[in-house]
Amino acid sequence: MTFLRNVRPYHDRVSALRQSKKFICSPAMSAKCPRCPKCGLQADLCLCKLVQPIHVQTRVVVIAHFKELARTSNTGRLVPICLERGELRKRGLPMQATDVSGLISDRSYWLYPGEEAQTLTPEVTKDGPITLIVPDGNWTQAGKMRHREPELAHLPQLKLPPGPPSRYRLRKSPDIYRVSTLEAIARALGILEGEEVQKAVEAVFDLMVERTLWTRGKLDADEAQIPEDVRHRSGLWDELIAKMQQ
Ligand SMILES: [Zn+2]
Repeated sequence: MTFLRNVRPYHDRVSALRQSKKFICSPAMSAKCPRCPKCGLQADLCLCKLVQPIHVQTRVVVIAHFKELARTSNTGRLVPICLERGELRKRGLPMQATDVSGLISDRSYWLYPGEEAQTLTPEVTKDGPITLIVPDGNWTQAGKMRHREPELAHLPQLKLPPGPPSRYRLRKSPDIYRVSTLEAIARALGILEGEEVQKAVEAVFDLMVERTLWTRGKLDADEAQIPEDVRHRSGLWDELIAKMQQ
């Protein structure tokens, strides 16, 4: 994947607009690009209807802090879109305990590379399908989450075997081998369900990352496979900036 060079990025255009003395307010701009409440992408880039949920034996439950779900870089929210048995549960809501109903069983595992984690292998399903519970947040948040949910703290932990570098490009990471939530789930399903399932989930992940990079001015519309009827938007920014600076 080639990133754009020498192209004025989207955020520079937004920054120029905000610095304009005639800039009125951002809500008018954001109102032009409401976000899909499910996939989190701008409405005209929504991928929900493009994705056919995959049938898998493994149940995957993502637990995410509600503030994490407001971030455009979040990938955990795509799990219910990708997987028939995918679930997303929020934690950290004021005055509301995390819903852990149905998660405690001898077939449930916590997917996180903690110190006690065993490496995931297909053997774990020898007695039947399992439930993978996946903390979603930055690395520090995800590491602490298990201890903040006492009922889940005793679940056995699983980690992925070493794999290729991450393809996530929406947040800075000190380690290119640290994968995002959806990448981790795709790789886990690759082990448990087969390569085809992994590739299908990774295709959704790539689509989300590329569309988000395009909205940030970091990827060319062709590379991000942006629909023709959406591409006019970059021209819209230039028109607005020119108008504000008159
Ligand atoms: Zn959507």
